[in-house]
Amino acid sequence: MPEYGQPEPGVVEITGEQEIAPDLVVVPNRHLDLVPNIGVIAGTDSVLVVETGMGPRNAEKVLKFAVGHARGRRLYLTTTHFHPEHTFGAQAFAGHATYLANWAQADDLAEKGAGYLEMFRGLGEWVARQLEGVELIAPDVVYDGSYDLDLGGRVVQLRPTGRGHTKGDQVVMVPDAGVMFTGDLVETGQFAIFPWFPPYDTDVTGVGWIGVMQRLIDERPRVVVPGHGDIGGPELIADVRDYLEELRDETWRRRDAGMSEQAIAAEVRAVMTGRHPDWAQPEWVERGVGCLYSERAA
Ligand SMILES: [Zn+2]
Repeated sequence: MPEYGQPEPGVVEITGEQEIAPDLVVVPNRHLDLVPNIGVIAGTDSVLVVETGMGPRNAEKVLKFAVGHARGRRLYLTTTHFHPEHTFGAQAFAGHATYLANWAQADDLAEKGAGYLEMFRGLGEWVARQLEGVELIAPDVVYDGSYDLDLGGRVVQLRPTGRGHTKGDQVVMVPDAGVMFTGDLVETGQFAIFPWFPPYDTDVTGVGWIGVMQRLIDERPRVVVPGHGDIGGPELIADVRDYLEELRDETWRRRDAGMSEQAIAAEVRAVMTGRHPDWAQPEWVERGVGCLYSERAA
């Protein structure tokens, strides 16, 4: 697991909001660990919040901001995947917003949510504090395939991508603005997060993730809001695809030459940190090697 350098990982502050399109605001994560980029997307009738922040106190801040922004409009909540900083504040929205998720994500939450709560509480005192009082709640509406949400004059598309970073990843597309929220399928300024924790969780797939990236590139978004890090253009997705392909090729070449997984992980981490000296959290390279070591060409 990564080591958190800042004193209080996971604390959402509603500051530095960016209106990236008309009536579409992002509360940026400001490069803070365990804080996602949070979206508030509005139409004439309703407002959709994307991501909750980690734990009920962070989510209450997000809810308060969304209620203020909505000024009486109906509220919806969706999340890009089940990981704690994206979903584990949903309880704060109960009774205030309709919570929407695809079935694979609802399944991830039901199957693995409690285990992740335990694991994250073990990451440190500050993280545990944010997770105090978490109750995992099921979404109000669970859908199969894509879900089009009409906010009034603006239709938002909730699109499950198929397995990549998790089993239940979805992107949130705002076609009129050319905006795509990717969740942790895309990060900027850091190595791709591979939640490869055998035997507890092995749903992440490097091979699947590369395919997802190609399909998202084909959607031609103009603005990409990653799970963590700076907002950018479509090149953010291409950068992740390129990195994942490098990681796959470097891993498979050594595996096919008979090297052990451990030796590959050490070598490939050195190769990747050499190629991407500015990227944070290089420990995720080794997890990525572990995942790809177990995979074969699709
Ligand atoms: Zn994640």
